[in-house]
Amino acid sequence: MKKRKVKRTVSLVIVLFILLLVVNILTDSTSKKLKKLKYQDKTISVIKDLKIQDVVIKNNKYSKTLEEAILNNQFYQENIDFYYEFEYRNDDKFINHLNSLIKLGYNKMQITEIFDSMSSDDIEVLLKYNYISNISDYLKYSYFNINYLDRYIEYEKSTSYDKEKLITYVNIGLDKDFYSDYKIVDNPSSNLVLVNKYNLLPSDYVPSDLVTLSNSYSLVNVKMTSEAALNFEQLSSDASVVGLSILGMSGYRSYDYQKNLYERYKENDPDKVDTYSARPGASEHQTGLALDVETKTTIYTDFGKTNEYKWLKQNAHKYGFIIRYTHENTHITGYKQEEWHIRYVGVDVATYIYENNITFDEYYVRFIENSN
Ligand SMILES: [Zn+2]
Repeated sequence: MKKRKVKRTVSLVIVLFILLLVVNILTDSTSKKLKKLKYQDKTISVIKDLKIQDVVIKNNKYSKTLEEAILNNQFYQENIDFYYEFEYRNDDKFINHLNSLIKLGYNKMQITEIFDSMSSDDIEVLLKYNYISNISDYLKYSYFNINYLDRYIEYEKSTSYDKEKLITYVNIGLDKDFYSDYKIVDNPSSNLVLVNKYNLLPSDYVPSDLVTLSNSYSLVNVKMTSEAALNFEQLSSDASVVGLSILGMSGYRSYDYQKNLYERYKENDPDKVDTYSARPGASEHQTGLALDVETKTTIYTDFGKTNEYKWLKQNAHKYGFIIRYTHENTHITGYKQEEWHIRYVGVDVATYIYENNITFDEYYVRFIENSN
């Protein structure tokens, strides 16, 4: 009897021992497998605590995203597929952003686009909104500005523009009235400065390199920046070779000159003055890059009827000039057509604008504004 009891106890101990051994081996092999996948010991221990070792081993690959989620206490079991899908990005907020985007309802494709085209700060802004089902339509455009999202949505209600135009126009400011919300430009001396009813020059700005056009190219005293002048003189000279006279009539105008001009017009024509005269600071003429032209025999207001205008339309871009205010772009510029007003922007930009038939305002918000 006594002997049997001892025997039973011994077998029980042996069984227990074997069981322990098996459990131990099993555990060990889990750790080994996880270690082989290159997870840190700390991570492995949490993986076991979370009881997700099976799925991690089954995936059979290391995921830094998963590891960071685990180590930073931002792991959500339901997001595990996403952790494997998205390569870790060196940004403290990456996991948090990923979890938040998933929670809002964004799918893998959308999240890829969001991470590829938005900065971390921009994503922070996006996360303040509910799920935006058509976010991809916006992200197609590099100049989409998440900070304007409310304005895009609002402007879309009252217009029927496609997304490209919608984004471009809001970026220009067209969802607000002319002059209602303007800023003072910080690059007044750039050949690519945008001056319009939303972007005004500082009142004390005077270009530093003004030169006077030689009197073969103008009948009156006309000043422009040296680069613009040089290119206009070439233009005028080439036009004269084919028997055309394109002459400078008004180039650089000071802030005060424009102020007087505008106020004089305004006194006589307060309702329409803004459709043909710039307010002080809003005139391209203050940049020294704009020029009103005429011919030897035709005043500038009739310039649109001349062969010179036909030639200029086809050739101005070759010299870096654009015809700034056309009938088709009145809704963007806020000015009536001015066939005689040309603006220097350099050959590359002028050629792009000519070939794509867009305004400088559109070009600016698409390609210059956020290009630094
Ligand atoms: Zn002009």
